[in-house]
Amino acid sequence: MLTKNDFPYFRSYVHGVNIKIPLGKDKYMTEINFDNAATTPPLKNVLYEVLAFSSMYSSIHRGTGYKSRFSSSMYEKSREIIAKFMGADLSKDTIIFVKNTTEAINKLSYRLDKKNGKNVILSTNMEHHSNDLPWREKFKVDYVDIDEKGRLSLKDLEYKLKKYSDNVRLVTVAGISNVTGYINPIYKIAELAHRYNSEILVDGAQLAAHLPIKMNNQDPKHNIDYLVFSAHKMYAPFGIGVLIGPKSTFEKGAPDYPGGGTVEIVTHDYVKWAEPPHKEEAGSPNIIGVIALSAAIKTLDFLGIRSIHEYEKKLTEYAIEGLKTVPDIEMYGDTSNYNDRVGIITFNMKGIHHETLANILSYEAGIAVRNGCFCAHPYLHNLLNVSQEVIERRINDSSLPHPGMVRISFGMYNNKYEVDCLINALNKISINKKYYLNKYETNKKSTRFI
Ligand code: PMP
Repeated sequence: MLTKNDFPYFRSYVHGVNIKIPLGKDKYMTEINFDNAATTPPLKNVLYEVLAFSSMYSSIHRGTGYKSRFSSSMYEKSREIIAKFMGADLSKDTIIFVKNTTEAINKLSYRLDKKNGKNVILSTNMEHHSNDLPWREKFKVDYVDIDEKGRLSLKDLEYKLKKYSDNVRLVTVAGISNVTGYINPIYKIAELAHRYNSEILVDGAQLAAHLPIKMNNQDPKHNIDYLVFSAHKMYAPFGIGVLIGPKSTFEKGAPDYPGGGTVEIVTHDYVKWAEPPHKEEAGSPNIIGVIALSAAIKTLDFLGIRSIHEYEKKLTEYAIEGLKTVPDIEMYGDTSNYNDRVGIITFNMKGIHHETLANILSYEAGIAVRNGCFCAHPYLHNLLNVSQEVIERRINDSSLPHPGMVRISFGMYNNKYEVDCLINALNKISINKKYYLNKYETNKKSTRFI
């Protein structure tokens, strides 16, 4: 029997998961949210702090009124909270508030110089498009290979670092893959990057709320030079993200986005830029977003990110083993030795298109999942063995069906009971495939909730 101990982060911590879906007259279904890799629901205390702050917010840094001074101090204090949580060193690092991870990477791609002529960025074959496309504008980009199980190949990383002999400006890698949930060995990668006179950026979008991060370490070889992440994947709302990196990177040159707040002195033919981070935060910033993010971080810190990780790891193991028992399920990534995976599981069911399966899970079982390519087309092509010929056919004919997968992704409030519901639903779908295919593939519209 399940006890409360089975649910250390049960719903009391998280608001907004008990969504009631209308099914007809006086009939409701509660939705199970397995789409946390896309966005996590807000923590209760995040909502409380936002509500409390809402009557107090004011434009920061320039006003002398109490509200303005209070907002400025809360905004600046948040940088300290974030620095402590991420092990950043504010004597050398700067914390820049942006919109999200994507904006953070775009900003860095613009601001990063080609130190000593270094013009190569080493991305990887498992990246989200946001950690690939921004680099293509200004740098030559190459991609570190993955192995046959979809893990990053450190051998290939070292091979490529050697191949470009000191020309690699940055190795840029996801802390956790948003497709397979693999945890990349970021400190080992940092050591390799530094050994070959490069630097490292960690895309922390999937990492920040699930595993501890330490940017500065006893041995500086293991330091993470740049880190980016989004609040909306950390139990806070949309519209705020963070870029952390050495101040020196942002001291030189003009910001990508100049405007109010970025300068010290302006004449018609002269600009003296402010120091970072202010130089990089043009216009009136998203103060409420910053307050929400630091409230979420305080809670994650209080609960203990290590114990959140241990809890989610056990749930992942439970889900992988459960999925193995469902007929016709094919999972991606290593499912026999998965100590380095957490919280994100992708799969397909033979004979059912991923979109149809995702719809059936939602409409029939109230289980929210995601399907498609998760903004990681090259990785999906690889994992699904999509040939170049098929890719080209799709390029020429966008009406062809999308390859893809179904993804479940856990937050700290999910539990084994919810996983059981998923396994039961998948078993039912697998046994009654014909019925569901008929219902969902022939007349999708009629099966939608009203
Ligand atoms: N990187 C990874 C690994 C992600 O999972 C995501 C979001 N799916 C992003 C980057 C982009 O994050 P955002 O949409 O918040 O910019």
